[in-house]
Parts: sequence; structure tokens; C-alpha cells
Amino acid sequence: MKIMPNRMDRGFEMFQQEFEEKALEVLRSGWYVLGNEVRSFEEEFAGYLGAKHCVGLASGLDALWIAFRILNIGEGDEVIVQGNTYIASVMGITINGATPVFVEPDEFYNIDASKIEEKITERTKAILVVHLYGQASNMAPIAALARKYGLRLVEDCAQSHGACFDGQMTGVFGDIGCFSFYPSKNLGAFGDGGAIVTNDDKIAEDVRVFRNYGSEKRYYNKVVGANSRLDELQAALLRVRLSHLKELTQERERLCGNYLQGIENPLIRLPGIREGATSVWHQFVVRCTEREALIKYLNEKEIGTIIHYPIPPHLSEAYQYLGMPRGSLPVTERLADEVLSIPLYNGMTDEEQDYVIQALNAFPGA
Ligand SMILES: *Cc1c(COP(=O)(O)O)cnc(C)c1O
Repeated sequence: MKIMPNRMDRGFEMFQQEFEEKALEVLRSGWYVLGNEVRSFEEEFAGYLGAKHCVGLASGLDALWIAFRILNIGEGDEVIVQGNTYIASVMGITINGATPVFVEPDEFYNIDASKIEEKITERTKAILVVHLYGQASNMAPIAALARKYGLRLVEDCAQSHGACFDGQMTGVFGDIGCFSFYPSKNLGAFGDGGAIVTNDDKIAEDVRVFRNYGSEKRYYNKVVGANSRLDELQAALLRVRLSHLKELTQERERLCGNYLQGIENPLIRLPGIREGATSVWHQFVVRCTEREALIKYLNEKEIGTIIHYPIPPHLSEAYQYLGMPRGSLPVTERLADEVLSIPLYNGMTDEEQDYVIQALNAFPGA
């Protein structure tokens, strides 16, 4: 049996008729950018999260860099972020000229809250919290630190649509929550998309103006902005997906419950969930010190896997200028050598999942 790491076609097939009807409706409407679909999606997604405002943007990366731009965080400023994140989190900081200050992750692969305070300097302006792999970060101590030092709190929720900490959804803990709707995300569009959410009226208004060439009124430009608009087609299709997000998340929880129960191999370490946090299981990430052998073994059984992420941002070519050689972040670097995401997607059958579980349990080691 051939099993791919992800199957976005399954997520389409589940609600195919709804998607097709909605797409035709938009195509026939004659209105394609910034219209009723975007407005409705923004209202519905803000409502889902319990946020006051949502502003649709063109991508998750745009949400991140526009967030820092609107907060006026740039050259000479430092932003604290975990070392083991997708590189887009870091680019959101550095596009504005600010400097990322990396903190090692905890056992749940999110920022280790107990290691943040020692990294705060007089240049620190914000903490960027990434809810990696779908699990909410340890928000109570992080929010307390942000308050204590007067820092902005920004959340990268590109992998955590609907994940909670102490019953509150990610995205609304700080000043701005940044979301991506890239097709493979838990709330995925059929192309690129993103959004910021906020409870602050001024921030929402500033982002709304910024995303559209800095203009509130056509041809009257208040600031030098960007063209970063969620389009009507994506917004319309996202409304369909959002109406099913609770059941889609429940399905991922069920699948990952099966993995947690079914995988029993001392060579494979399973993920854990922090007390008080929930995960929407963007990825099911295991650890294995013999990862290369495990990948090869699974490939022979036609089971595909992905590494999220093989090169931590500080070791990537793009960030050589930060001058952080191997050894700078040992926990992060070790994770990059050991983590492996096994197949997980909405619409995964029991037969497919049992095949993966049996293969993992039979892995003999290198
Ligand atoms: C996907 C992702 C992004 C970037 O989102 P895009 O829509 O692809 O620009 C940012 N941060 C994290 C953690 C992501 O997983």
C-alpha cells in the first residue's frame, strides 16, 4: 500500500459538492477581490476564535511581517522566537530589519518559557510565539513576561487553527495572531492565503489600510503599503472549510489518538501534550535517533514521511549573517536531526493508518 505524507485531495473530496458550488458562485459573481466573501470570512473566523477583528491577507508570511511593521518593530529591535520553527516565522521578523533572538524549545517542541527572561535586553520589543505542529504554547508564563517587560506579544498560528491553552484559542493572547491558509494547513485554502486577528481596533484598521496599498479610499494613499489581499475565491472556499473545521479537527484528534495508542517501538518517541494545552495536530511528529534508517525502511514499504524541519533557521544559508554556527542551539539542532512527521491527513482510512502503525512497530532499527 502506498501512503503519502499528506493527501490534500482527500480534504477536497470530503466536501467536493460544497466547494464546487461555492467556487462557481464566485466565478459567476463578477467580483473577485475584497468583497462580501472576504468580509464574511473575516467575521466568521474572528467569531470562531473569539477575536474582535480578522483581516484577510495574501499569506501567512505577509501576516507575520505586516504584524511587525504595524507594531513599528524594525531596525535595532530584537524579537524573541523559538529556534526550531519554520523559517517564515523568522523572515516575518527580519524582513522589517529586526533581529531574531532564539530560545530553545521545551519537551513539547514549543518555546521553553523558562528560558525567555534571560534573553530579554533593552532592545527586546516583542515575543513571537509559534504554536508548532498544532499544539498551543505555554501561554500563561509567556503572557506574564510580556506584561512584566512591556513587550508586544505576537502569535504565529499558521499550524494551530483552533488549538487552546486554558480554554482560550491561540491567536487572541497578545496583540496580533498571524494565520496561514496555505493548502496543507489545518484550515487550508486552494492557493495562498493568510490573516491577522486582533482585539485592538487601531491595529485592525492599520492592517486593513496597509494590505491595500495603504489606501482606505481608492486612490487616496495614507501610507506606503502592500498588495496583500485574500481573494474572494479563497475566502469563499475557506468559509466552506471553516464550517467543517470542528469535525476536521476531531478527526485529526481521533487519528492521532490511534497513533499514540498503537505505536509501540522503543526506538520511536511519541509526542506529548502539555497539561492545559490542546493540539489540533497539524503534524504527528515522532523522534528517532536512527532517523535515516527509519526513513529508508518506511520508503521501502512505500510510506512517505517529511522532516519538519531539517535545517533550523539559524543554520540556513539565508541566516548566515546572524553568525550562529552549529552548536549555538543544541536542543534545536538535535531536534532537526531526530524529528519525523508520519502520514496524517483528513480522510485517512483505518486501513492506511493500521499499515503505518504496523510498519513502525516492526522497525528493527539500523
Ligand atoms: C506555513 C507557515 C508559515 C507561513 O505561511 P505561508 O502562508 O506559507 O506564507 C509561517 N509560520 C509557520 C509556523 C508555518 O507553518
